[in-house]
Amino acid sequence: MAEHYKPAKYKAWEMDLEERFQEVHPVLTAREAVQEANRCLYCYDAPCMVACPTHIDIPTFIKKISTSNVKGSARTILEANLLGASCSRVCPVEELCEGACVLQEDHKPIAIGRLQRYAMDYARNKEIKFFQKGKDNGFKVAVVGAGPAGLSCGGELAKLGYDVTCFERKQLSGGLDTYGIVVFREPVEVSLAEVHMIEEMGVKFENNVTVGVDITFERLLKDFDAVFVSVGLGAVPDLGIVGETLSGVVDGLDFIEETKTKELSSIKFGQRICVIGAGNTAIDCATIARRLGAERVTIVYRRSEAEMPAYHFEYEFALREGVGFSFLSQPVRVIGEKNVEGLECLRMDLGPPDASGRRAPEPVPGSEFVMPCDMVIKAIGQKKHTSVTERLAQFGIKTTKGYIAVDPLTNATDHPKIFAGGDCIRSHGEASTVMAVQDGKIAAKGIHNLLSNSNTASVSSPVQAKGE
Ligand SMILES: Cc1cc2nc3c(=O)[nH]c(=O)nc-3n(C[C@H](O)[C@H](O)[C@H](O)COP(=O)(O)OP(=O)(O)OC[C@H]3O[C@@H](n4cnc5c(N)ncnc54)[C@H](O)[C@@H]3O)c2cc1C
Ligand code: SF4
Repeated sequence: MAEHYKPAKYKAWEMDLEERFQEVHPVLTAREAVQEANRCLYCYDAPCMVACPTHIDIPTFIKKISTSNVKGSARTILEANLLGASCSRVCPVEELCEGACVLQEDHKPIAIGRLQRYAMDYARNKEIKFFQKGKDNGFKVAVVGAGPAGLSCGGELAKLGYDVTCFERKQLSGGLDTYGIVVFREPVEVSLAEVHMIEEMGVKFENNVTVGVDITFERLLKDFDAVFVSVGLGAVPDLGIVGETLSGVVDGLDFIEETKTKELSSIKFGQRICVIGAGNTAIDCATIARRLGAERVTIVYRRSEAEMPAYHFEYEFALREGVGFSFLSQPVRVIGEKNVEGLECLRMDLGPPDASGRRAPEPVPGSEFVMPCDMVIKAIGQKKHTSVTERLAQFGIKTTKGYIAVDPLTNATDHPKIFAGGDCIRSHGEASTVMAVQDGKIAAKGIHNLLSNSNTASVSSPVQAKGE
C-alpha cells in the first residue's frame, strides 16, 4: 500500500488559521519582477505565447515590466485575456507557457505566471480602468452562467458595443474562480475584482437567476439576438456505494465553497479524513482539510500514481502538506451507524488499458480492508448539467459524451442563435480556466460575425422549443 503520512513538522500549523489560507506563493517585489523580466530573451515567434491558450503577448508584457511600464504590461495581458489575474494564479503554467519557455534545463524558465500576477495586482491595487463599452450597436446578448467563459465572452462583446446581460444562478459571479478554486491559490476578492471590471465595461449581471427555472431559454431567445451558454459542470456525482448518505460524507465542491464563503473557524471537519478521487478537486479538498487542522488525510484512488488526473506539481504540493495516498484502492462501503466510522475498500490491480487509454483497475478478490475515518469527502469529478442539455436538445442542439457540441471555430451550436463554451463543451482535453476564457473569446467573435452580418437588432426569434 503506497501511503505517506504527515511530515514530522507541519509548518502550516505554526501559523494562525487565517494565515494558513493566505496565498501560498508570495507576490514578487518590484525589484524581483524587473530582475526576472530582464532574464527573458524576448524570443521571436515566442513559444510561450503559442502555448498560452489565450495567446497573451508574453514577451511584450514582460518587456514592459523590465522598463517599469507595469500599467502597459497589464493592458497587454488584458487585451488577450480579461481574466489575466485569475489565470496568473490558477494556470498550470508548467504545462503551458513556462513549460514551453526556451530557457529550460540549464536556466530556469521565466516565472511567467508570477510576472503576470505582478502586473495584474498592480492594476488592481491602482484601480486602473482599461476598457469601456464600445459604441452601442443595438444588439442584445444573453450569457448563461457568469464563470470564466461567460465573463470573457460578455466582456469581449461589451467592448464591441453589445448590450450584454449575464444570468447567474449563484449570489456571486465568477463561477469556480469565486467558489471552487482553493482560497490559498486564488482569494475570492481577485475573482470578484474581475467581475467588477467586466461590470464597469457595461455588462449587466442578474444573480440568483437560474436559466431553465427562473427564466426559460425560450424567453432569452425572444428577448436577445444571441445566447451564450457557459453553465460549467455541476455537483460531484454520487459514489453509488452503501453508506454514502451517512452524516460525515460530504461533496468536495461544497467543502471548498465553505472555505471561500464562511468564517474558517466555523467550518466543521473530521480528524481522520478519506478523500475519494485524485484530480484537482481531491487535491484541493485534502490540502484544505490539512490546513484546517485534520490530523490524518488520505486520498483514496482506485488506479495508481501514474494514472492520477491531478498535475504532478499538485501531487507534490499535497505530499508536502502531509496528505497520504492510498493507491489501487476502490471504496466499496462507508461504514457507520449514523456517522462515518470507516471506509471499506478493495485492493485493485491494473489490467489492460480501458477506453480512456489508462490501464483499467481490476478488483483483487477477497482483498477488502477498512480505513478508519470520521469524514469522507467525495471528489470524483463533476456531473454534467443534464437539465440544461436536455432543454437545449429541444432546440436541436446535440451533445458529445453529454457535453454541448459546438463548431470549434466559432463555438456555435446547432441552433443559429445559441453558442456555448467552457467546461460544458469540454468533451476532451483538460478543463481549465484559461481554456474557458478562450472559449468565451471564440464565441464572442462567432456572435459578432453572425450579428454584424445581419441587419436587424433585437428581433424576436421565431424559433420555439419542440412541444411548446
Ligand atoms: C476544485 C476545482 C479546482 C480547479 N482548479 C483549477 C486550477 O487550479 N486551474 C485551472 O485552470 N482550472 C481549475 N479548475 C477548472 C476550472 O475552474 C474550470 O475549468 C473553469 O472554471 C470553467 O469555467 P466555466 O465558465 O466553464 O464554468 P464555471 O466556472 O463552472 O462557471 C459556470 C457558471 O454557470 C453558473 N450556472 C450553472 N447553471 C446555470 C443556470 N442554469 N443558470 C444560470 N447560471 C448557471 C454556475 O453557477 C457558475 O457560476 C478547477 C476546478 C475545480 C472543480
Ligand atoms: S520563451 Fe521564455 S525567454 Fe522566450 S519570450 Fe517566452 S518567456 Fe521569454
